[in-house]
Amino acid sequence: MENVTDPGLIADIRRYGHFDVDGCYNCGSCAAVCALSEDSALFPRKSMRLAQLGLRERLLGSLDPWLCYYCGDCSKTCPRQTEPGESMMTLRRFLTAQYDWTGLSARMYRSAWWELGVLGAVGLLTGWIMSRLMAGMPTELTAQGGVRINEFLPMTRVHAFDWVMAAGLTFFLMSNVARFFWYTMLRDGDAPPLRSYVSELWTLVWDGATQIRFRECGENSPRWVKHLLLVTGYGLMFSLIVFFLPWFQTENLYPLWHPQRWLGYYATAVLTVFAVEILWSRVKKEEEIHRFSDLSDWLFPILLLLTTLTGIAVHVFRYAGWPFPMYYAYFAHMMVAVPMLTVEVPFGKWAHISYRPLAAYFQAVKTNAAGLRRAEGAAPDAAADAGPKAQAA
Ligand code: SF4
Ligand code: SF4
Repeated sequence: MENVTDPGLIADIRRYGHFDVDGCYNCGSCAAVCALSEDSALFPRKSMRLAQLGLRERLLGSLDPWLCYYCGDCSKTCPRQTEPGESMMTLRRFLTAQYDWTGLSARMYRSAWWELGVLGAVGLLTGWIMSRLMAGMPTELTAQGGVRINEFLPMTRVHAFDWVMAAGLTFFLMSNVARFFWYTMLRDGDAPPLRSYVSELWTLVWDGATQIRFRECGENSPRWVKHLLLVTGYGLMFSLIVFFLPWFQTENLYPLWHPQRWLGYYATAVLTVFAVEILWSRVKKEEEIHRFSDLSDWLFPILLLLTTLTGIAVHVFRYAGWPFPMYYAYFAHMMVAVPMLTVEVPFGKWAHISYRPLAAYFQAVKTNAAGLRRAEGAAPDAAADAGPKAQAA
């Protein structure tokens, strides 16, 4: 990997949020206090240093910003008040934009007009597609007194639309993930052997499912529980819509005890409560991690909340037998939910659902490969030979 200095690197990173490295004198207190920082990944100090030196390529190949769960401990400890925790957040935005080959992520992060414009355009396009898929607006009700939802928007058409949306989202996200993999694991020519990837597969499964490192970080245990509930609610709702829509978009008015209703209620309640909690916390700015808020930090909970509220409206109006309020609520629901999923997941803040568990996995693979090299008598790996974490301090 080239060690070419780029004098414009810091200015470039600052276009993605707060990034104060001018005051940093590399004391290492931040890396010493960070519960997740290790000898092989001394963040946030190392990331700050790479930026100071203008080593763009080294930064692009670094997993460190994704290993940070933003507890804020380093920011509280920094003697120069340079807010290294927020700098790691800014680096994650910067890196998300670098992995994105379309350039859309960079434009959206650097310009509020672009971000709002793209979300608005996708929302309007979704409304137009829905109007094409619509079969009619029947006013008569079902025998149970509910709205004839499948005569308004036939389930098979919505289901096909959901699959197209999921395929597009997956394509953009996975193609950006492929670039992330290339930057961090392949480009420096010292790729770990396949057996290291196989040995550490469990890390990917376990970390991806539990985000367990989140709990080890600062006083993050309550945030870890909230995050886990949020992920279960999001995953459940996404699965119900993409895989089980025939069971979910039905004209049957199920009794309250029916599992179809409770699965939907669980996902809706979790997503609504935590979207409100995130917004309230950002308004109050009491927690260290919420002192700085980028537009993308606001849009994430706002879109989530609008999606759940319009979804609740659809449900209530359908059971109440109010056709037209339900039809308009359904349109509003799709016009918020589709941009949130197709724009924010591959190009925005939600992209971390892929990068973060993969970074933990890749870091474990690198550590495994370094151990294999040492066992085989090859030259000691530089990262593994860096000495105890205390050297950072
Ligand atoms: S604590 Fe970290 S960010 Fe702050 S001055 Fe020391 S090395 Fe720099
Ligand atoms: S915010 Fe927390 S996890 Fe992230 S670098 Fe700072 S101390 Fe470590």
